[in-house]
Amino acid sequence: SKVIQLNEITKHYQMGDQTFKALDGINVDIDENEYVAIIGPSGSGKSTLMNIIGCLDTPTSGEYHLKDKLVEKMSETELAQQRNKSVGFIFQSFNLLPRASALENVMQPLVYRFIPQSERQKQALESLKRVGLEDKIHHLSNQLSGGQRQRVAIARALVTKPHILLGDEPTGNLDSKTTQDIMKLFDELHEEGHTIILVTHEQEIADHCHRVIRLVDGKVVADTRKKTEERLH
Ligand code: ADP
Ligand code: ADP
Repeated sequence: SKVIQLNEITKHYQMGDQTFKALDGINVDIDENEYVAIIGPSGSGKSTLMNIIGCLDTPTSGEYHLKDKLVEKMSETELAQQRNKSVGFIFQSFNLLPRASALENVMQPLVYRFIPQSERQKQALESLKRVGLEDKIHHLSNQLSGGQRQRVAIARALVTKPHILLGDEPTGNLDSKTTQDIMKLFDELHEEGHTIILVTHEQEIADHCHRVIRLVDGKVVADTRKKTEERLH
């Protein structure tokens, strides 16, 4: 079933008396458990599209259905709930709290839930185990390597049990060995049933994904699903 339906999505920025079209009529459907790369040159609208999919931003026009719910019709509260519940966001710069421990960082998305502290800790610990960091839970994020920080960020994205994981250049700050480890983790999460969408300019990442959507000047210029034998693992 379709988890994401983007219908004629535009995003316009007003710059003085000029209108800049960051997204210019995007039509994309994404099924449950797809593994998608969004590629394209710098400035083509990848991050803008990702932010709309993740409910961090709203389109200028068009319709966006997230799991059959029309996003434009949602109140701020509903949007915040969807952000917290349906989507896990992973950023290039990790966006961790530097003075907080791995465990505290991962517990953070659960703060708004009415569950006891001990339960939040338990869930965060499970999530950190999932990414192989159970022996680093009390490390502050600035005591961790880049790859470990991104694992913490992935654990934080997983802790609310979202079906959709969105990564905006998630390996952009990592060396190639660490990139491979993180991609292996995304592969596993995909196999466990998550829908995964990654913005990337790295061919290596796009090769991992099962579908590649290419943007140029805010438009989809290619949308290719790979056959099983063409997939790189
Ligand atoms: P990409 O992620 O592919 O590099 P972005 O989605 O970040 O592209 O940006 C697409 C275009 O929209 C760029 O030309 C960028 O300058 C412009 N843009 C993004 N955000 C804003 C903004 N807040 N105000 C004005 N222009 C913006
Ligand atoms: P990697 O080889 O995975 O990139 P690093 O060489 O950066 O990792 O770090 C090796 C180990 O040292 C890691 O387990 C990390 O937790 C620890 N470490 C890195 N930086 C610090 C620091 N500033 N303080 C304490 N421990 C650190």
